[in-house]
Amino acid sequence: MTVAVELFRSVPRYLAARAVGERAPGLIAGTLAPLRLVNRDEPVPPAEGWGRVTPRLAGICGSDLATISGQTSFYFSPLVSMPFVPGHEVVGDLYDDVEDLPAGTRVVLAPVLACAARGLPPCPSCAEGATGRCDRVTVGHVSPGLQTGYCADTGGGWSGMLVAHRSQLHPVPDTVTDERAVLVEPLACAIHAALRGRPEPGASVLVVGAGTVGILTLLALREFTEAGTIVVVAKHRGQRDLALRFGATEVVGPRDAVSAVRRSSRAFRLQPERGGAFLLGGVDVAVECAGTRRSLDLALRTTRAGGRVVLAGLPVAGADLTPVWFRELEVVGVYASGIESVNGDRRSAFELALSLAAEVDLDSLLGATYPLASWREAIDHAMSSGRLGTPKVAFDPREG
Ligand SMILES: [Zn+2]
Repeated sequence: MTVAVELFRSVPRYLAARAVGERAPGLIAGTLAPLRLVNRDEPVPPAEGWGRVTPRLAGICGSDLATISGQTSFYFSPLVSMPFVPGHEVVGDLYDDVEDLPAGTRVVLAPVLACAARGLPPCPSCAEGATGRCDRVTVGHVSPGLQTGYCADTGGGWSGMLVAHRSQLHPVPDTVTDERAVLVEPLACAIHAALRGRPEPGASVLVVGAGTVGILTLLALREFTEAGTIVVVAKHRGQRDLALRFGATEVVGPRDAVSAVRRSSRAFRLQPERGGAFLLGGVDVAVECAGTRRSLDLALRTTRAGGRVVLAGLPVAGADLTPVWFRELEVVGVYASGIESVNGDRRSAFELALSLAAEVDLDSLLGATYPLASWREAIDHAMSSGRLGTPKVAFDPREG
């Protein structure tokens, strides 16, 4: 048996949580969350090439919070299997030998459950190394689940034990601490986001949101692109300080963002009869990293005609797409990561993230860790992490 925080299907709780939304995080963590602490049977490796992993740290992601609080689209419902143990940002130890990796190897998890893990011949996307685009995430050796942390069979990071396939495992060098290793999965996604943004040398970029996704995307833009001016929109003081430290040219609050982009890009500002101001002119590339309607509207309204808007946050309904039409914007989704093209080289985003995590001081990003038994406090903290200036909150399942 293993202790786990489990997400179970409860339509009334889902709808209640959705109604309360993010306005009262205490209520979500307290009584409405479709979560419970359970003793589960340990997950069993479903086939050759799989092994057990005992998590050391497992992060709480914005997508987890959106799932718990009922903010995600019903689109996801056929892509998960219930009940599942959340947690896809994981550093842990191999409990079994898995092919070339001996038991005891410290690993980080690439969570996508793509063709290789499912025992299937590669689909066209997997064959190209774009495992995030895999078409087979509902079939094969394990139940439907776009990732570990959304699949009933694999377990997840918010527990004492999960199972993973060799294709998901990346050994962690000794130079990377657990506290940094738990940030490698979001960092790999951020590298993918920065590269999908494809800013030209000297291009102006707007990063909307300065939580973990925003800060790591900013870091990746500075490391892997030649972007010029990068304006970051941050809500809270702690986020402002972090954004400056990680390479922002200018950090502004949400209310000042349109004016700041207008000044830096010499655009024209127009004020509609209702709704937020927008620009004629604006940044070359905007990256939406907050996953709110307001932040997506801001990105769409401040990007120049023909520019690119990258959706790095989990998208939400209700944004006004008029600027996509009128400004002929290119809207680019980013999900997970894969084999990336960097200056003509093909490199795994996880390998890039692991080397970057060894070099760059990411220690201030992990704000707190909690034992599984304190899951309510952990979720509550994660819901308020922006305001508290502690971007990432994680579970330490070893604490019980
Ligand atoms: Zn595939």
